[in-house]
Amino acid sequence: MQESPIESSCPVCGDENSLKMIAHSTQIAYFGEHTQITLSCSTCGFRQTDFIPAEGKIPGVWTLEISSVDDLNARVVRGSNCTVEISELDLAVYPGIHSSGYVSNVEGVINRFVDAINITKNQLNPEEKNDLEKCNSLLENISNMIGGKIPIKLTLIFSDPMGHSKILHENAIFRELSEKEVEDLL
Ligand SMILES: [Zn+2]
Repeated sequence: MQESPIESSCPVCGDENSLKMIAHSTQIAYFGEHTQITLSCSTCGFRQTDFIPAEGKIPGVWTLEISSVDDLNARVVRGSNCTVEISELDLAVYPGIHSSGYVSNVEGVINRFVDAINITKNQLNPEEKNDLEKCNSLLENISNMIGGKIPIKLTLIFSDPMGHSKILHENAIFRELSEKEVEDLL
């Protein structure tokens, strides 16, 4: 493990001397060797983790059509610069200062969407009936799909300009991003 101060200011509080980086090599089951990098700020508590593959970093888009409850177990690595979309739900989670990389499975990704929908829902005021209904119907749909009450049909898309992300499933499709697309995502 290697700990080093960084010559840049904290992206959240702006403190110029508080940011540290910890890097260590780690094996992620099924994904192989990665360097885990954690940035942390001792002033405000900001923390960001990323997992960088030792090999095979290609900026690209991973797409998986989820059509069975078994597909929910597919393993994923999501880099901190990766945009995650579920096309049928018309939802996307864009990377931001506070987004960390994570290792999870498809169900874990969907649960993060559920959390995001709940946060949105709780911020609505009672007059926004249409938005409230939309949130409720999304939540109900997702819960029925995961619970096996209605056939599951979701398309999960990971767009990563750094090439740190991956969906591990035999039906996952990968395509490289063009330079223009990489620029648009960064
Ligand atoms: Zn800070």
